[in-house]
Amino acid sequence: MVLPLILAVLGLAIGPLLGIVVDRAVERERPEPFHRCRDCGTALGSRSLVPIASWFIPCPTDPTHRRWRYPLTDVVTAVAFAVAGARFGWSWQLGPYLALFAALVVMSVIDLETHLLLNILTGPALAVGLFLVLTLSGANNYDDGIWPALIGAGLYGGMMFFFWRLYPPGMGMGDAKLAPTLGLFLGWMTTTPVNAIRIVLFAMIISFLGHAIIGLSLRAFRRIGAGAELPMGPALAIGAVAMIVLSDQLLVAG
Ligand SMILES: [Zn+2]
Repeated sequence: MVLPLILAVLGLAIGPLLGIVVDRAVERERPEPFHRCRDCGTALGSRSLVPIASWFIPCPTDPTHRRWRYPLTDVVTAVAFAVAGARFGWSWQLGPYLALFAALVVMSVIDLETHLLLNILTGPALAVGLFLVLTLSGANNYDDGIWPALIGAGLYGGMMFFFWRLYPPGMGMGDAKLAPTLGLFLGWMTTTPVNAIRIVLFAMIISFLGHAIIGLSLRAFRRIGAGAELPMGPALAIGAVAMIVLSDQLLVAG
């Protein structure tokens, strides 16, 4: 119980820094040691990096300006870190999956705001993931996890690329580029190719169903227009995190 709490606090502290990465990617400007108002661009000062307290700093220009993104980033990071702590405990896998979850928070928030998964993030995420899988597996007597990880990456990437070619409006090319990283970390949870295939398929089904249900309910409540598309990236991230957390319960040894 202690570790998830510690990690939740760590997540709250790291959230504002992840927000700076999001700023950089969304605005395409140099990183700054503070946040800006999402509406008018007014600098919010270094206080805007203080966890939780910063949520209540109003925009100096107009207090009514919306600023849901920074609190959202902080809270989601805290929850994701706590979940990783509950799942992995003090194991060698905790670090790599914390890094994955932080990267997924950044990419999901950017995708929500811009409907883009940026190559500058999806490419390095896969490279770092491959590096971690190849080095940490051997160092921790977990060689059995290497092939399932590679199979997961190839399978998820291949399937999403196929879907994108089949029906390009359904998702972005960025989704197909994020998928190999998700497949890599999903497969790495297992030690057999069969389970790697299972966990990737489960994650994909959860993502597609979740995306469809949320999209349809938003439309039903008229929160988004008929032509508007909900970005796929956050759904892929949530499906992968769900399967990483639940893999023990849902995968039958085989
Ligand atoms: Zn403002």
